[in-house]
Amino acid sequence: MSQPDTTEHSSYHIRTFGCQMNVHDSEHIAGVLESHGYHKATDIDSADVIIFNTCCVRQSAEDRVWGNLGAVRKGGSRVLAVCGCMAQRHGLGIIERSGGVDLVFGMEALGRLGDLIETARSAPVCDLGVVEEAAIDGLPAVRSSRAQAWVPISHGCDNNCSYCVVPRVRGPERSRSEQDVLEEIGRLAADGVLEVILLGQNVNSYGRDLGAAHSFAKLLEKIAQIDGIKRVKFETSHPGDLSDEVLDVMATCPPVCEYLHLPVQSGSDRILSLMNRRYDRDFYMQTAQRARDKVDGLTLTTDIIVGFPTETEEDFLSTLDLVERVGFDAAYMFIYSHRQGTAAASMRGEVSRQVIGGRFARLADLQARLTAASLARVTGERAEVLIEGPSRRGGLVSGRTRGHRVVLMEHPGPSMPLVEVHIDSAGKHSLRGTILREYD
Ligand code: SF4
Repeated sequence: MSQPDTTEHSSYHIRTFGCQMNVHDSEHIAGVLESHGYHKATDIDSADVIIFNTCCVRQSAEDRVWGNLGAVRKGGSRVLAVCGCMAQRHGLGIIERSGGVDLVFGMEALGRLGDLIETARSAPVCDLGVVEEAAIDGLPAVRSSRAQAWVPISHGCDNNCSYCVVPRVRGPERSRSEQDVLEEIGRLAADGVLEVILLGQNVNSYGRDLGAAHSFAKLLEKIAQIDGIKRVKFETSHPGDLSDEVLDVMATCPPVCEYLHLPVQSGSDRILSLMNRRYDRDFYMQTAQRARDKVDGLTLTTDIIVGFPTETEEDFLSTLDLVERVGFDAAYMFIYSHRQGTAAASMRGEVSRQVIGGRFARLADLQARLTAASLARVTGERAEVLIEGPSRRGGLVSGRTRGHRVVLMEHPGPSMPLVEVHIDSAGKHSLRGTILREYD
């Protein structure tokens, strides 16, 4: 690959929207740019190259990007680029509609980014590459944390949830080779990383495309044996694919944390079927119970969609009932978003905004009560916490327990990021604690 002519002032600014996979992709975008001589700009206005790494899972996420693109000041040879899910979805349409975007690229084109930027300085470019062939894991990365790293184990998704655009924009599921994943984590451990969070749209189906000898449970077990890795977490799990073997590894391999994010989406069998989720409410509740029985002290979190087409009050009450019965430690709640090109987009029976708003508020109230109770339960206990950085509250640092609960603490100064903490009190969304000691 030819090296572009980058000058001292060549700086970049990346704005990342959406999920953790995008956050991780942005680390590689930064890594590729820095390998071409770019440096991080102090702010968006002083950047020579501005990249929006976008999300299109919900219409509101797209609207935010369009609004932000329109607000970017153009001038000189500055390049405004868009990548991520909106790039895959709209391609050239972004350049046509925005009027100011110079470059649209897909993750398969990331290795060519330096050249693409130089070309885009004189004429708009769209290079999406072949989404199925995107393999960015071997490219350089700038990690945001010294102690923690996100590691994709698979890309894309083979499920066909009727509301979801992800399979369209990220392609079918491709598992990374076991050796690739283990080597990357080995390098991270040698570099001082203590916690890895494995990423995939459906981590539980890892290895299906690699042959019968491969499975997520086997991979997890091997990762847990890597020297220096103290904590392993993973997301996201599909309830239909969560095996006993994975739960056994969680229960028996100390580095694998007691944290499971298991999206349920709805508590109504009728809606689950329309969503094409491949399980019913009984199956979900049994799976959740199985996980809690096997993994001591499990923190269980979920995703829920409110207002899926045709959702009735009765369907919604089934969701409330399931949420109450399972007693989630936390939940991410979303209002259904109509996405063109999905099966759900052609379903009739739109639920009114007013009804959705009322249901959302009731669900949020219920979950707030459950979350508060979950946080209160661990008050007075000792917890292992990985410090992630300064909290938004002045003077405090923020970290997470093995169960992924947020803890805010006063920090005595530079030290090891892994600490034992006494949990002093519980707030609405986080805990307050006092550091007792550092782990070696
Ligand atoms: S499992 Fe379903 S919701 Fe998740 S990425 Fe795949 S299709 Fe989308």
